[in-house]
Amino acid sequence: MDYLEQFFEFLSIPSISALPEHKSDIERAAHWLKERMIRAGMDEVRIISGAGNPIVFGRKSAQTASAEPVPTVLIYGHYDVQPADPFEEWHSPPFEPKIRDGKIYARGSADDKGGVFPAIIAAEEVIKDNSLPINLKFLFEGEEEIGSPTLKGLLEEYKDLFECDMILSVDGGMYSNEVPSITTGCRGLAAIQIDVLGPSTDVHSGGHGGVINNPIQALSHILSSMKDQEGRITVEGFYDDVVAVTEEERKAFSEVPFYEDAYLQEIGVPALFGEPEYTPVERMWIRPSLDANGIWGGFQGEGVKTIIPARAGCKITCRLVPDQDPESICKALETHVRRHTPKGVISSVTVFPGNSKPYAIPEDHSALAVIREVLYELYGKEPINVRLGGTLPIARAFLDVFGTYLFFFAMSGPDSNAHGPNEFIRIEELKRQKEGLKLFWNRYGHAAIK
Ligand SMILES: [Zn+2]
Repeated sequence: MDYLEQFFEFLSIPSISALPEHKSDIERAAHWLKERMIRAGMDEVRIISGAGNPIVFGRKSAQTASAEPVPTVLIYGHYDVQPADPFEEWHSPPFEPKIRDGKIYARGSADDKGGVFPAIIAAEEVIKDNSLPINLKFLFEGEEEIGSPTLKGLLEEYKDLFECDMILSVDGGMYSNEVPSITTGCRGLAAIQIDVLGPSTDVHSGGHGGVINNPIQALSHILSSMKDQEGRITVEGFYDDVVAVTEEERKAFSEVPFYEDAYLQEIGVPALFGEPEYTPVERMWIRPSLDANGIWGGFQGEGVKTIIPARAGCKITCRLVPDQDPESICKALETHVRRHTPKGVISSVTVFPGNSKPYAIPEDHSALAVIREVLYELYGKEPINVRLGGTLPIARAFLDVFGTYLFFFAMSGPDSNAHGPNEFIRIEELKRQKEGLKLFWNRYGHAAIK
C-alpha cells in the first residue's frame, strides 16, 4: 500500500461540514480530490458548486475495443466528515492519522474517506492497465453528514452529467465482521410534533385542579393510545400499506447474526420490546416503528410548583417500510391525534419537512447477483442480505431523479466507530474496497455485454 501516505494527507484535512469555521477545509478537501482524480487519468474532473458545499465530479469512458454499448456506473461517496469531539476520548488526534494493529485511526477513515480514496485508486489502476470495461462516473459530495440538503437539487440540475445505469455507494459498511453483507433497503421517515393547549397561562392547581383538563395528561393519553402494551402500533391505518414479509425473507433474516444478550448489554436495557409476532431483526428492518423523541410541558425545576400547565408537546418520528408513504402516515397520525384528544384541551399536529420514503432494491436486480459474486470472492463466504433500520435519503433521491437504483458497496466494519471517537478503518478493508470495485466493474461490464 504505497499510497497510504496520500490517504493520510486526505484524512488530515478536517473537512467537517457541520461547523462553519471549517468551510475552507471543505474547499481544500474538494480541491485535493479533484487534483488526485485528474492524476488518476480521468477524462474530465470538475467541481460543481451550488448553494451548499461543492460536488467533485469525475468521468472516464470505457477503454474497450468492442463497439457494443457498455453500462455506466456512478460511484457515490462523500468527502465531508462528522465533528471530532469529544477530543479527549481520542487516543491520537483525529486529524493526525495513526496506524495501530493494522487499523488506521482518524476522523473520516471509515466514513467516508476510506470509501472514496480506494475508489480513485481502483480507477487509476484500471485506467493505467487500459482495461476499463465500463463507463465510470464519480460523484463525491460534501454535505452527507448534514443531510445532503442541496444534493437532490444538483442531481436535477445536472441530470445529463450524472445519468447512469446504476449507482454504487462507497459510503456505508458491513453489518458484521463475520460474514459479508449486502444492504438491500432502508426505512423511510415521517416526523411530526404534537402540541396540546390548555389554559391560556399556567394556572393554580388549587384553584383549578379537578375543574379543567391538564395538557400534560391529555398528551400522555394521546401518546399511549398510539401503541398497545406489547408494542403494536394502534394508529388507525398505520400498517395498511406495509408489504407482508415472505417466508423466504423470514428465513433469510433468521440467519442474520443477532445476539440478544450482547445487544441488551450494549444498549443497557433490561428486555427487548416490540411486536411479538416478529423477531428483533425483522422489527429493526422490515417492520415500521413509532417513537416519541422528546416531550415537554409544565414545571421542570427542583421542588414543587402547584400549577396546571398551559401547554405540553412532543416530537414523534416513524420509520417506514415499503410501501408506506410518509404523507399518508402523517395524515393517519393527525387523524389519530384528533380522535384521541380528550375534552377540555386543543391539540394540533405539525408535519416536518424532509420526510423520506422507504427504499428497497428489487431482489431480482441483475447487479445484486454480481455484487453477491464479488463479495463471495473477496471474503470466501456467502454474503447475507441485510437492511438498514435507518433512513438514507440519498438512495431515494437517486431513484426519484434517475429511476436507477443505488447499491451499497462499502467494506468498513460495524465496529469502525464512525461518528464517534477513535474512528478507524482496517488496512485490509481499504484493499478489499479497491479490489472489490475492480472486480465489480469487470464482472458487471462483461455480464452486461453478454
Ligand atoms: Zn457516510
